[in-house]
Amino acid sequence: MAKTGFSLEIKGLHVSVESKEILTGLDLSVRQGEAHAIMGPNGSGKSTLANTILGHPKYEVTDGRIIFGGKDVSKLETDERAKAGLFLAMQYPTEIPGVTFSGFLRSAMNSVQGRTEKRGDLLSVVEFRDIVEEKLKVLKMDSGFLERYLNEGFSGGEKKRAEVLQMMLLAPKIAVLDETDSGLDIDSLKIVALAVKRMSGPSFGSLVITHYHRILRYLAPDHVHVMLGGRIVRSGGPALARTLEAKGYGWLRERGGPRRK
Ligand code: ADP
Ligand code: MG
Repeated sequence: MAKTGFSLEIKGLHVSVESKEILTGLDLSVRQGEAHAIMGPNGSGKSTLANTILGHPKYEVTDGRIIFGGKDVSKLETDERAKAGLFLAMQYPTEIPGVTFSGFLRSAMNSVQGRTEKRGDLLSVVEFRDIVEEKLKVLKMDSGFLERYLNEGFSGGEKKRAEVLQMMLLAPKIAVLDETDSGLDIDSLKIVALAVKRMSGPSFGSLVITHYHRILRYLAPDHVHVMLGGRIVRSGGPALARTLEAKGYGWLRERGGPRRK
């Protein structure tokens, strides 16, 4: 029987940044209802993958396909990918003068849910508040956070919570979260992991990209992949996560994984 549900299928993906090939033929499939993690050392191309799925213009797909819900999305704009149900936890533009986090979230929800001024169904401030309050509790975030300006003085942990809040509000079919490499404290890590777990269910698929082994303890993904040299060199289940935690990545390089140039 054919599996149902949406999936994100990445096939033979080659990506270049400024003419340098970073992704070298990456294959990956993530379905609704599944929790995946990609691990890999710094420089293996993890953020390049996240940015490419997001549709960042700097990342050029030179070969391969990114198929979401049966359609090739690799030429779509970022917001169209989001409307299709793909969530890409990403840095919002570094500076949007005068835009509060709450204003940003509300317009993101309106956009993803196809609400428009013309149709007269934009979320009101009050409706939005009701929806967001409950999520803030889960993330242990103060509602004062919402009135701050985008990225103005957000700490690493706050940025991560902000991203996760966005994910919870948009309720995507599949979410891609790239762990920033910089100072995410263990509490933030737990909150991110718990929020992802809380969302998990038959209609939610996740792909968490990280070089922290530790997050796997909280996330307990069903599928673990190791990325080296711009492609997935090994996939497995929870046992692979434990092996990585104990042994790191060196053994994979030695055993025929592609060596880094
Ligand atoms: P990871 O997230 O696994 O640490 P990255 O995807 O950030 O790996 O980087 C992989 C390689 O691509 C590195 O050699 C990095 O220097 C290069 N790279 C990534 N993004 C850019 C960029 N925007 N401009 C130039 N080089 C980049
Ligand atoms: Mg990275």
